[in-house]
Amino acid sequence: MSRKIIIAGNWKMHKTNSEALQLANQIRIKTTDITRTGMIICPPFTALAPVYEVIKDTNIGLGAQNMYWEKEGAFTGEISPGMVKSTGASYVIIGHSERRQYFGETDDTVNKKIKTALENGLKPIVCVGESLHEREENITDRVVKLQVELGLVGLSADQMKKVIIAYEPIWAIGTGKTASPEQAQEVHLLIRNILSKMFGSGVAEEITLQYGGSVKPGNAESLLSQNDIDGALVGGACLKADSFSDIIHIAEGLTKA
Ligand code: PEP
Repeated sequence: MSRKIIIAGNWKMHKTNSEALQLANQIRIKTTDITRTGMIICPPFTALAPVYEVIKDTNIGLGAQNMYWEKEGAFTGEISPGMVKSTGASYVIIGHSERRQYFGETDDTVNKKIKTALENGLKPIVCVGESLHEREENITDRVVKLQVELGLVGLSADQMKKVIIAYEPIWAIGTGKTASPEQAQEVHLLIRNILSKMFGSGVAEEITLQYGGSVKPGNAESLLSQNDIDGALVGGACLKADSFSDIIHIAEGLTKA
């Protein structure tokens, strides 16, 4: 396999600054041998700048978990793209299902955030995925297609090359239930085909499509071996350096020459 796999860790609302520094340090030490696999860690906002100091001389990229779309202003409690960038971060997760579910994120706000992230030199990791109810109603394809089309509307092909898409079936997030490799592959291929129609086949081929939903060392290989799964967005298993680095090493093994 010659393509590059990218593994990102979403720390969610975990880790104080001292805990974050410890985890980032452990991940740094355990991944010094990684040369072919992309690695991104996404700590909470409060730990971004200090964690950057730990990983700035490594191959590990830094990402935020959210941001607002305005440059500055009277938006109490919000964080602008420029503020995220100033911490040393180069990525930002946008439209995570928890943000859609608990904080009123919509395809429209996702679209605004993607555009301003890109304008500010941040690479968005855009999350899409269906609920259990939607899967049971057999409307997964329709739901994911709408999220992709509405979330990415108005982007140029050049902008799109900087975007990572994470397919995260909501029923598999934090539940211990994983989509089977075949189920995940089917939706990844669907997403690739939608991207091909929107931005051309060259761009669609280049884009990293991550799978997210209870990825662990035990299931990473079968998921990452699928044709259209180019990486993973990891929640629970990224909070321990051992399991996160195990997933990264599995990815590295899959791209051996
Ligand atoms: C996530 O929140 O993006 C995620 C995939 O979480 P988990 O791995 O815990 O299911």
